[in-house]
Amino acid sequence: MLNDFVTGALGCERGRAIVPQTAKLLRGARRAGIPVVFCNDAHLKGIDHELALWGDHAIAGTEGAEVIPELELCAEDYVVPKRRYSGFFHTDLDLLLKELGVDTVIMTGLHAHMCVRHTSADAYQLGYKVIAATDAMDSFTEEDYKYGVKYLKEVYGAELATVDELLARF
Ligand code: ZN
Repeated sequence: MLNDFVTGALGCERGRAIVPQTAKLLRGARRAGIPVVFCNDAHLKGIDHELALWGDHAIAGTEGAEVIPELELCAEDYVVPKRRYSGFFHTDLDLLLKELGVDTVIMTGLHAHMCVRHTSADAYQLGYKVIAATDAMDSFTEEDYKYGVKYLKEVYGAELATVDELLARF
């Protein structure tokens, strides 16, 4: 949930629509002592493979690559910069989660059928249980969203839950 995905280069209304529920989930997680990890695109301009497909977005060091202000990134949160769809690909996310003693990841963000999906794939393959916060993730279109969530459930055994359902368990 970076500026470029919500209001910038790749911004979309469906991305803006999930901001309140996402912020609510993060606030609840922080209150409950559940680690909040931002897996943020931080692309190298003129270098990263993916930019040829999507155009420049979330270039490291720019405002577009910053977490949207509504999510209130704070000192106890973790930030994992990434240059590919998956938050695990050539990052230290797995090391971080292992050292935090994490066995379950709650997935949020954009896009359900791309970065969320690829990150969930690696989480599943590394042995983490995956939960999809269904009203805190979305895609460019309803079709992409539905397809993305269905894939998470069917292929990675993801549990589907709303933000309010999750908060009731914290
Ligand atoms: Zn990207």
